[in-house]
Amino acid sequence: MEELVAAMGQPRFRGRQIFHWVHGRLETDPNRMSNLPKALIGQVVERCRIAKAESAHELVSADGKTRKRLLRLPDGQSVEAVLIESPFPGHEVDRYTVCVSSQVGCALGCSFCVTGQVGFVRQLTPGEIVEQVYGFERLLRQADGERGGASRRFVTNVVFMGMGEPLANYEAVLAAIRILLHPEGFALGARRITISTAGIVPSIERLAEEGLPLGLAISLHAPTDQLRDRLMPINRRYPIASVLKAAAHYSEQTGRRVTYEYSLIQGVNDSVTHARQLARLLAGQLCHVNLIPLNLSLDPSLRPASADQTATFRRTLEETHIPCTIRESRGQDILAACGQLRYTADKSA
Ligand code: SAH
Ligand code: SF4
Repeated sequence: MEELVAAMGQPRFRGRQIFHWVHGRLETDPNRMSNLPKALIGQVVERCRIAKAESAHELVSADGKTRKRLLRLPDGQSVEAVLIESPFPGHEVDRYTVCVSSQVGCALGCSFCVTGQVGFVRQLTPGEIVEQVYGFERLLRQADGERGGASRRFVTNVVFMGMGEPLANYEAVLAAIRILLHPEGFALGARRITISTAGIVPSIERLAEEGLPLGLAISLHAPTDQLRDRLMPINRRYPIASVLKAAAHYSEQTGRRVTYEYSLIQGVNDSVTHARQLARLLAGQLCHVNLIPLNLSLDPSLRPASADQTATFRRTLEETHIPCTIRESRGQDILAACGQLRYTADKSA
């Protein structure tokens, strides 16, 4: 931004002011940037476009706590972003998590995932990623303004668990994260951002060297290569041992506990034997297992494990001292749960 204004013959600090307007105050109209000289505003209006994602469709869950938006991109493509409100133990505020997409579609083709079945369309730009967060933040600030409350930042967490594989769009995802972290902009903490990946090993290794204590979640879903090869084709390129090694290195570099995501699929990966195999794999790692009830996908043969089987699986892991939670799947009534994004988009297209 400093270079941009310098090219317009303006002092560099004006660039920082514009950055704060766009990424801190989330202003999209240059005419309202009240501390800028009129001539500069004129140049900005002429030369720049401040992106604003058009929400083509919005669904709110019955409990009002999950809100999904279909965002129309300038080239006519669409992605989904989800806002999830939840209690925030130990904090005075609620937790507002935005689940963002990093790509239109995904090339990795996991058998249980709707996005994967649709295939890859294109990468998102850093602007298209941060705008998913800003859109919800504007809504929350507006609602607060109407109640007469003070203006503050409401979104507390960002997770890359929407459409796409974030580590297959590394540059744009990291650029978006650095913008979200910027103290003169949105000013999120790195610990409040989580990247979820199917396990692209070289990118995990690269991420470990960024000097950012970002949360890392690995979509594991199977304790053996034989089974994981079948569910997640990327495993043939980066088998389980290589993913675990990269994750352990990430933990060492950042001090962060890695989360392993495991969707329980009835009769496929949900037996006590699978739980014991998983426990053996993760023994001694600074980690946490998140058991996710499988959501509807395009493959009717894949069904969620029963509540009993899920509880038994959890108990088996805990007996071996692997910390484990069963994730409550939010927003299922509006098809906003994991792996379901784009499903409705296709139907409405
Ligand atoms: N590509 C990344 C991030 C997006 S997917 C990844 O795979 O990690 C976000 C999470 O949803 C991942 O853990 C993914 O495995 C999970 N997921 C995909 N389809 C699902 C389904 N049908 N039910 C439950 N979880 C699913
Ligand atoms: Fe892509 Fe993640 Fe879906 Fe696999 S689970 S197809 S990596 S979005």
